[in-house]
Amino acid sequence: MSCKQSKSSLLTLNEALFPVILLLKEEKACVLVGFDSDNAPQVIYPELPDATTTVPLEGLAAQYSGYMVYCKPKYTANKRASLTGSPESGHWFWSTWSKCRGLYRDVITASLLINVLALGMPLFIMNVYDRVVPNHSTSTLWVLATGLTIVLIADFSLKMMRTWFVDLASLRTDVEVSSRIMSRVLGLSLASKPASTGAFANSIQSFESVRGFTSSLTILALVDLPFSLLFIAIIAWIGLPLILPILIGAALLLIYAASIQRQLKAMADATMKASAHKNAVVVEAINNLETVKSFNGEGHIQSDFEASSLEVSRQNAAMRLLSGTVTQGATFVQHTVAVAIIVIGVYLLIDGQLSQGGLIAAYLLSSRVMAPISQTAGLLAQYHNAATAMETLDTVMDLPQERPEGKEWLSRANLTGKIEFRNVSFRYPDDERYALHNASFVLQPGEHVVVLGKNGSGKTTLQRLLLGLYQPESGAVLFDGVDIRQLDPAFIRRQIGYVPQDVHLMHGSLKHNVLLGDPSASDERLLKASQLSGMDALASKHPAGFDLVIGENGQGLSGGQRQTVAITRALVNDPMIMILDEPTESLDHSAEASLCHSLKRVGENRTMVMITHRSLLMELASRIIVIDNGQIVADGPKQEVIEALRSGRISGGKA
Ligand code: ADP
Repeated sequence: MSCKQSKSSLLTLNEALFPVILLLKEEKACVLVGFDSDNAPQVIYPELPDATTTVPLEGLAAQYSGYMVYCKPKYTANKRASLTGSPESGHWFWSTWSKCRGLYRDVITASLLINVLALGMPLFIMNVYDRVVPNHSTSTLWVLATGLTIVLIADFSLKMMRTWFVDLASLRTDVEVSSRIMSRVLGLSLASKPASTGAFANSIQSFESVRGFTSSLTILALVDLPFSLLFIAIIAWIGLPLILPILIGAALLLIYAASIQRQLKAMADATMKASAHKNAVVVEAINNLETVKSFNGEGHIQSDFEASSLEVSRQNAAMRLLSGTVTQGATFVQHTVAVAIIVIGVYLLIDGQLSQGGLIAAYLLSSRVMAPISQTAGLLAQYHNAATAMETLDTVMDLPQERPEGKEWLSRANLTGKIEFRNVSFRYPDDERYALHNASFVLQPGEHVVVLGKNGSGKTTLQRLLLGLYQPESGAVLFDGVDIRQLDPAFIRRQIGYVPQDVHLMHGSLKHNVLLGDPSASDERLLKASQLSGMDALASKHPAGFDLVIGENGQGLSGGQRQTVAITRALVNDPMIMILDEPTESLDHSAEASLCHSLKRVGENRTMVMITHRSLLMELASRIIVIDNGQIVADGPKQEVIEALRSGRISGGKA
């Protein structure tokens, strides 16, 4: 969209640009569609996105903050054009970098001037020695000194500006690249999620080394490098033989730095692997601390951690040593070249081919030539850390996304709750067996069904396919007759209230946890959902109410209370479909009874798919589907299926 915010009164809005977003007071907003024949504004409120409401002009004017946002779809010639024009297009790193072209152009311009100004000092010294000292002309000395001071001030300012520009560019790219990486991670399709969370997090954090490399000031060495040639030319003009040590020194240094590249690469790869493993161990241990302690697993994990930690340190130390030979070697070469220039210079001076001033100027210029060459050698030494990180990140960025770029989704208002599985077969990645095989059924809007089956029979898998977390290998899952693959995953999940078996709550208030998917949802929605689920009783028991802070993983709440929070969270969007995975598994009888009571209210007019084998919950359902080994073995009215299970005509259920 192309957007513009502006300040305008309600009556002077440009109607040609309608609809327009009005920013209201108290951080609210609505869409103004137009005015009807009586000049009454027609608006859409986010609470009811599909309905246009006509409101009195005075009422709207009283709420209106004075600011509005015009937005229109950007013109795109065709789909391909819109793809290339999208902010997500291009390489995740380089395309962002190239957006700062303007800044880097300024950096290069500043470098050009800095390098020209660098000639000031050697020329000053040369003239002082050759002209001022022999003639004792102090007035010339003052003129030269004043000139040089101006040069030095300009040099200082340019260098500060250059540093600032480089930092500014890296700041801009940092924010954008990091957010691009994060959005890719969040958009990852579950089927392609790497197995180890810790190792995955490590690959993402490795962006630090790419950033360290590209945003460091040493990268300026590459800009300065071409100027080395200019300085070499000037030294050659002062005395041709003086460039010999420089050429030999630079060649030796660069050849050495290039020759150890393979070793450095191997080390960078090994470090990356070891630190990914180390991180994986840490993350897994922290996530499962309770289990680790309960089964005395500390020793094994500690030794695993120490082994990978040792490997990381060893590889790092070896890498530092090897790259140290380059950086220290560079200093050594720089000094040796300086000595060689003085020695050769003195011979030229005795021969009368070089003045004293020329010798000193050549000496000063030689350090100017060698500095960027040494820095480039140093960069070559650091390069592999960044390159390995870049490769890893490239792989992450190429992982399949849930919402591929450029894919157009069918848009729907709201779902009615009709669900169809049409010959659905599904296998988890890297698994030979079918977790679900040729499953077919139709659920009508408002129908309540219980899915029964032994452990590992495919019940949870069925729910995951319903949520669009995985895609069927063959067959189709349809909502209101539309294939789930054509619907935006975010849309589907907004339409489905999901209560997982393992409720994961996060550190924060009750409200924060319930409104996870929509933090800006109104208090009304929160209250309505908590009344339905029974969470209002929990909140009213505590003085902090909905602001009651709970710990990580819902610490401080009982199993039943966590379930209640999870059900409230599922209800906040007022979904037409509820999916519940063993919601009463960890509850005692009275908690189960009260939850069933709440679910009875919740289920009215909603399609409900429940996995359970508890008889209380089963009472809410009218139909039972039995899964065994990934196949639907029975599907029918509750009583009939229960009879069939009892009499042993079908197997698979626990009832
Ligand atoms: P249920 O919910 O009926 O206990 P699931 O649907 O969880 O069973 O599992 C069905 C089959 O799929 C099992 O054999 C299980 O091993 C396998 N499975 C479940 N989740 C995964 C997963 N994330 N990755 C690979 N295989 C899985």
